[in-house]
Amino acid sequence: MSEFDFDLFVIGGGSGGVRAGRVAASLGKRVGIAEEYRFGGTCVIRGCVPKKLFVYASQYAEHFEDASGFGWSVGESRFDWRKLIEAKDKEITRLEGLYRKGLENNHATIYESRAVLVDGHTVRIVKTGQLVTAERIVIATGASPAEHPALPGHEHTITSNEAFHLESLPKAILVAGGGYIAVEFANIFHGLGVETTLIYRGKEVLSRFDGDMRRGLHKAMEEKGIRILCEDIFEKIEKRPDGRLVAETMKGETLVADQVMLALGRRPNTQDLGLESAGIALDEKGAVKVDAYSRTSVASVFALGDVTDRVQLTPVAIHEAMCFIETEYRDNPTSPDHDLIPTAVFSQPEIGTVGLSEEAAAKQFSEIEVYRAEFRTMKATLSGRAEKMIMKLIVNAADRKVVGAHILGHDAGEMAQLLGISLKAGCTKDDFDRTMAVHPTAAEELVTMYAPSYRVRDGERV
Ligand code: NDP
Repeated sequence: MSEFDFDLFVIGGGSGGVRAGRVAASLGKRVGIAEEYRFGGTCVIRGCVPKKLFVYASQYAEHFEDASGFGWSVGESRFDWRKLIEAKDKEITRLEGLYRKGLENNHATIYESRAVLVDGHTVRIVKTGQLVTAERIVIATGASPAEHPALPGHEHTITSNEAFHLESLPKAILVAGGGYIAVEFANIFHGLGVETTLIYRGKEVLSRFDGDMRRGLHKAMEEKGIRILCEDIFEKIEKRPDGRLVAETMKGETLVADQVMLALGRRPNTQDLGLESAGIALDEKGAVKVDAYSRTSVASVFALGDVTDRVQLTPVAIHEAMCFIETEYRDNPTSPDHDLIPTAVFSQPEIGTVGLSEEAAAKQFSEIEVYRAEFRTMKATLSGRAEKMIMKLIVNAADRKVVGAHILGHDAGEMAQLLGISLKAGCTKDDFDRTMAVHPTAAEELVTMYAPSYRVRDGERV
């Protein structure tokens, strides 16, 4: 009989924690898992899943407009925010149930409580004060939206957490930030009919993405009617007696709205978890430091997902959990692979991307070939929509390997998933060229751009 209550105790019931706990339990390990809020974590409860449902909801106005070009007359349409929230909440509750069921079916012990670390083998269940011991402990507590206490009036602002539960749809909203969450929510609110302004401190939104994607998205968003203010930040937010908010910006703009949403990055949830006193090292951002096998500075304690701030994406947390299982329970040391992660920004138009941006590739390789196509899609010819799709392949001239693929346009996320396989497999541009096109699709451009649009040699476009 083991000296511990559990073989594994997981703190945090999100994507990474539930996967580690469920799979360990399915292997016959005695697993305990604590979650203080709702099983499913950010992704399911107040992130990717409800966000994507909102994205779908926000696209209907354009679908109705586009329909007339195809002969349809669409009657008067109305949007009911409460109805969307109710439907979304119902779906989230269903998914949460599936997460719990997966744990229960494998006989994991669920603690509906916050749990804190006492030492390398002990956690305290906060609700009951109970101490439980485990041979291994996994910290998978995720991250939360960064707050901005230095901003006067920050108490009037919301983050993505609240955006999923607003009592009513605002008439006007201001969104701060230029990352995934800011551009996704700016498009969601705009699509639902909200007057939307995005304010970003940098020169161009989505700082780590390919320049063509950034500029293309910016232009498309402005053409839809979203106001974008770059190189500016909020200086203060005040609430008027009528309840509306007034934001003043560094450049002297005065903006009035019903909600101000901050999307300024996410901070690892490591506060008040007992980590420091248990000897767990944190980095300067407060993330748990881990080695290549997700092991913390205490040998029996591991950390997975956003709390480690490696790459804040759900599939990455799940992958890290599976690597932990391979390493610790299947005698197959496996280190998470963070190279060539395909990703999508669910802006409108969408961005799907994998590998290096043109800018990053130009720094890394002495010569690159850039294949670029910008075109109106077939659907747009009849709908009359002006929006352009952009596709780009970045090729290392030395070995012909495709080192980056970037798409701006409908279903870019779906395409990025498949491009991810090609790049991971090390495909060359010649492999793309000898692949038959699927006609008529937008994606066929990816295999029919035969001549480079231009080259970049030693950082210079030639
Ligand atoms: P990001 O890191 O993507 O972007 C944060 C933004 O806030 C950046 O534009 C940053 O500017 C800006 N910013 C940071 N601090 C300040 C400040 N003090 N004042 C003004 N601006 C500031 O974070 P998000 O919050 O958008 O998303 C968090 C993470 O969640 C993402 O990195 C992503 O990994 C994940 N996510 C993934 C999604 C997906 O896969 N579709 C969707 C949503 C989230 P700068 O660029 O200058 O640093």
